Amino acid sequence: MTNKRIVIIGAGASGYFTAIRVKELNPKLEVIILEKTGKTLSKLRISGGGRCNVTHDCKGVSALLQHYPRGKNFLKKIFHDWSVQHTIDWFESNGVPLKTESDGRMFPVTDSSETIAQLLEWKAKKLGVQLYTNTSVVTIVALPAGGTYRWQLNFNTGGSEVATDVVLAVGGFSKESQYNMIANLGVKIVPPVPSLFTFNIPDSTLHTLHGLSVQDARVKLTGYPEAYQGPLLVTHWGLSGPAVLKTSAWAARWLYEKKYCTTALVSWKNLGEEEMRDFLRDTLTENAKKRIDNVSPEGIPRRLWDYILLRAGTPTTKQAADLSKLEFNKIIENLCRMPFETDGRTMFKEEFVTAGGIELEQVNAKTMEIKSVPGLYATGEVLDIDGVTGGFNFQAAWSTAAITAIALSN
Ligand SMILES: Cc1cc2nc3c(=O)[nH]c(=O)nc-3n(C[C@H](O)[C@H](O)[C@H](O)COP(=O)(O)OP(=O)(O)OC[C@H]3O[C@@H](n4cnc5c(N)ncnc54)[C@H](O)[C@@H]3O)c2cc1C
Repeated sequence: MTNKRIVIIGAGASGYFTAIRVKELNPKLEVIILEKTGKTLSKLRISGGGRCNVTHDCKGVSALLQHYPRGKNFLKKIFHDWSVQHTIDWFESNGVPLKTESDGRMFPVTDSSETIAQLLEWKAKKLGVQLYTNTSVVTIVALPAGGTYRWQLNFNTGGSEVATDVVLAVGGFSKESQYNMIANLGVKIVPPVPSLFTFNIPDSTLHTLHGLSVQDARVKLTGYPEAYQGPLLVTHWGLSGPAVLKTSAWAARWLYEKKYCTTALVSWKNLGEEEMRDFLRDTLTENAKKRIDNVSPEGIPRRLWDYILLRAGTPTTKQAADLSKLEFNKIIENLCRMPFETDGRTMFKEEFVTAGGIELEQVNAKTMEIKSVPGLYATGEVLDIDGVTGGFNFQAAWSTAAITAIALSN
């Protein structure tokens, strides 16, 4: 087929990047983006708190893959072909240098998502990508074989467009029925559930600590095999911070089945029980003559220490050296496994994604084409791929888009 007419559905990060890369690789191809809303790149603009966490400073593919609860195996080759370094180089060579924060997140040096959005929009326009907004594709129909075009896309407005190749860059949806347009083509959808959220904890005593954070906590859900470590933040409705977001991502489906009601066991320091015992013993020995409420261990803020003593029922007027074995054990229990009943979730405002979408077994990872539907491609969040917070979701969007573009430009 010579005169390719590529129609991309969705003007988000992956749709734009596919369009731009196709034109960069083969300027002769006709590329059209259709966007259902009046705006382009809406999610990108609000991403990363308005700063757009473009990617993560994680150059090795194996290390990068560890941040994807879903899609890890599928992404292996894709990340070899379009890596974090490719992303950094592409933005830098287009005049948008990125900077790395201490936790590895990478942002434009301007600290503004507008810089990224404007680059993508300007570049697409310059390369001759056609864009139609307020155009919602409602059905995709396969045309009879032998004609010039393979697809007809019908719009909510009554209009339509024909294409040789179609790229699904529609993002994630919260309801399975919203994937019907894709499922009707015989493409299997993994039912969507939310990922990257914070835990609602009804226990009002915890809320008194709101604003408090610890740098290296660990969260374990009772009945779920893994525990996740990282900074933890107490909010006025429950628990948040990277340790909670990681837990919510890896246990997304498990939590959905539990209706978000479970028990979160919080270790306020990422230490095993024996290490925690040694650590507390050393703290108490060094401060033997002090009142127990005046000896908050390193990394445990005073407010939290008071709370731990309260939960442990420790008489606060006692000297550190006079704690009984039972009192010591109760403090250890509350330092290592403080239980909180969870009752629902709250979306994390900085970043949230859908776990679920197009089942990966149906997608050719070398081209991003749906194996059973030639001429139909998928990129970005519409796929059953999602990463933890930190720029990993955009990296998956850039990489899958770049691979799609290579396949389409040939
Ligand atoms: C608040 C927030 C902050 C985030 N921050 C970050 C971050 O800092 N770093 C990070 O890595 N990830 C972040 N994410 C996740 C990231 O934004 C997504 O993973 C990424 O935008 C996915 O890109 P996409 O192009 O696949 O989908 P989207 O950006 O969702 O774009 C899909 C587009 O398709 C359009 N569309 C859908 N259906 C149709 C249709 N039928 N016809 C026409 N158009 C259609 C939609 O209107 C939309 O414009 C954040 C997400 C949110 C919600």
